[in-house]
Amino acid sequence: MIPTVPYIQSCFDDYNTRFFGGQLPPIPIRLSHAKGFLGKVTFTRRKQGLFCGYKNENFVLRINARIDLPEHLIQDTIIHEMIHYFIAVNQLRDTSTHGRLFRQHMARINAEGNRHITISHRLTDEQRAQTIIHKTRAVAVITFSDGKTGIKVVPNNPQHIRYWHRMAMRRFPIERIEWRFSDDDYYARYPSSVALKIFLIANPNEIPQDDDKKIV
Ligand SMILES: [Zn+2]
Repeated sequence: MIPTVPYIQSCFDDYNTRFFGGQLPPIPIRLSHAKGFLGKVTFTRRKQGLFCGYKNENFVLRINARIDLPEHLIQDTIIHEMIHYFIAVNQLRDTSTHGRLFRQHMARINAEGNRHITISHRLTDEQRAQTIIHKTRAVAVITFSDGKTGIKVVPNNPQHIRYWHRMAMRRFPIERIEWRFSDDDYYARYPSSVALKIFLIANPNEIPQDDDKKIV
């Protein structure tokens, strides 16, 4: 599955109650499309007066939404990041990034919650092998008879594409439909469905140009 912000939020709330006594303060959640990590907690360190050390603040929880992963792995990633957050927000010291304190919490939660959290931020080869990478979208770039341009993202399988193409040609004054198969995040903003709704694009130049194109 590809996680959404509300999904991550509900996991966070649930695990906060179960594993952290509900003590973790709310944290902004963002989706990441980076290749390098599954999750990350970022924050800034502000110097506190002369002798008081540092205060960690401006926390953000980032979870990867680029890769289609098994749900349990996304959940383990969220908990992994919550341990980092717990340590940083409470200004605790650890022996290293995944030091003794981190591993204590990891072992506790793995036992209590029957989880399989690891210290890795990356996929193991085994996980990679069972991962269905690719969120290739089927995108219709529509040129209307009046010259306007529109976009529609359709579930990427031949039946849906054929169905949508046929229905759209019947319903709308369309000059042509160009199908593209793209994993560009530009299209993530458009819902994927077979609904006969086309999003007009004010500036066609903003559409990515390096997709695989297929004119139907
Ligand atoms: Zn970590």
